[in-house]
Amino acid sequence: MTHDLVAENRRLREQLTQLLEQAQQNQQILLRHQAFDLQFISAGSLRELLDTVFTTFAQSAGLDVVTLALLDPDYDIRRILVDLNIQLATLPHLLFVQEEIEFGELAGRLSRPVLGAYSEELHGRVFPEPIAPPASVAIIPLIRHGQLIGCMNLGSADGARFAPALGTDFIEHLASIVAICVENVINTERLKHIGLTDPLTGVNNRRYIERRLHEEIGRSFRQGYALSCMYIDIDHFKQINDRLGHQAGDEVLRGVAARIKAELRSSDALGRFGGEEFVVLLIDTEQADAVNVAERIRLGIAEHPLMLISGQTLDVTVSLGVAALDHQIAEDAVGSVAKGLIAQADNALYQAKEAGRNRVIAAKAVAA
Ligand code: GH3
Ligand code: MG
Ligand code: MG
Repeated sequence: MTHDLVAENRRLREQLTQLLEQAQQNQQILLRHQAFDLQFISAGSLRELLDTVFTTFAQSAGLDVVTLALLDPDYDIRRILVDLNIQLATLPHLLFVQEEIEFGELAGRLSRPVLGAYSEELHGRVFPEPIAPPASVAIIPLIRHGQLIGCMNLGSADGARFAPALGTDFIEHLASIVAICVENVINTERLKHIGLTDPLTGVNNRRYIERRLHEEIGRSFRQGYALSCMYIDIDHFKQINDRLGHQAGDEVLRGVAARIKAELRSSDALGRFGGEEFVVLLIDTEQADAVNVAERIRLGIAEHPLMLISGQTLDVTVSLGVAALDHQIAEDAVGSVAKGLIAQADNALYQAKEAGRNRVIAAKAVAA
């Protein structure tokens, strides 16, 4: 009898230990899953989210490859990447399709996760060359507001990792988190872009230029490269408005912005600073070189009349003031250095106006 009780007791203890172990394991899994969620949720920008998907998540989930394919019918997302200076060539695991049909065999199946052994026919589109084909894969559709926005594709060298019979609760949960995060960072980037762009001309706005100038001044002092600034103002713009109307004036603003942009390098920053005034920051550029660029801009505008939508052509000229950051000045607060540089360029512009317009004047270096 006692013997039975002891045996029974041992059996119960074993069961309890097993249950405890199971509970601990479940707890571990839950914590791991929460950690994945947190990784995605804490990404504050598109760049961070992409790094999280391709690197942090892939490593912590023990995956051999992760790709992300996004539906981008209007090139919206790709344009954001360009604006963020993110080169697509550096992100071989980020894929874009115009419409679902481009997923080939996968199209139409993406209402649920697709798990199983890798097949070139079925999965090749989301693991394109030069990515080494994995052994088993989980294709996770990303759905927002009932619409497919893309899919996240997990690949493992272990052929048994993603068996078709595997439960997909966790994967579906992950998919909903990733879908929200993707939509969220894209919207955030879009808002940031709108907040830093001039809607009339499509170039940057004053806020962007001021922010960028602060960054560039800091970098220029630290790394010792030259930084020049150009202030551009359209000559007699009020007369254009008065003679031809505000609409034509707007067209001239767009045309002049495009002409200026055409003469700049992609590293330079152009912004509409106010009404008919533009500021350009020329990175790693000495004042003499900036003056040459300014002269090119002046000629590009003066020698090519603008064609308005009405068919009318219009002679437009601009005046330009150029100043360069003086590395000899005492390290002042960046804010006042920035103001000083813009003021110098503006002052030179004023002199260009006084001297008869349609010309470039360089600011004299201020003694330290
Ligand atoms: P100056 O050669 O001395 O620069 O003469 P200006 O006529 O260009 O100078 P002023 O600063 O007196 O005129 C700027 C004009 O720009 C006045 C304003 O009505 C116009 N303006 C400002 N913002 C806009 C805009 O967004 N669209 C249009 N069409 N006109 C604008
Ligand atoms: Mg003006
Ligand atoms: Mg003007």
